[in-house]
Amino acid sequence: MDMSDIQVIRQHLIDPEICIRCNTCEATCPVAAITHDSRNYVVDADKCNGCMACISPCPTGSIDNWRTMPRAKAYGSRGAVWLGYAT
Ligand code: SF4
Ligand code: SF4
Repeated sequence: MDMSDIQVIRQHLIDPEICIRCNTCEATCPVAAITHDSRNYVVDADKCNGCMACISPCPTGSIDNWRTMPRAKAYGSRGAVWLGYAT
């Protein structure tokens, strides 16, 4: 087991019950870490740099939730280096 298997990160958790799908966060994110499908908006932990630019523009506060989890299990497209919020 290498360190990436046990490193813990904080990942955005967007609650689909609160999100009104206004797309503000996706349009705001400078690194295109936020995407959506027909059900939910999600943040790619591999792309997010923790700049927090998406937090205050969200009209419902639904992106200001975080879940702590092993990096290896975080939602992400590449499984690459996490740039912020390592705990
Ligand atoms: S914290 Fe910054 S990089 Fe991460 S999803 Fe929000 S706007 Fe994008
Ligand atoms: S800005 Fe907030 S309410 Fe709008 S799509 Fe993003 S998480 Fe949902």
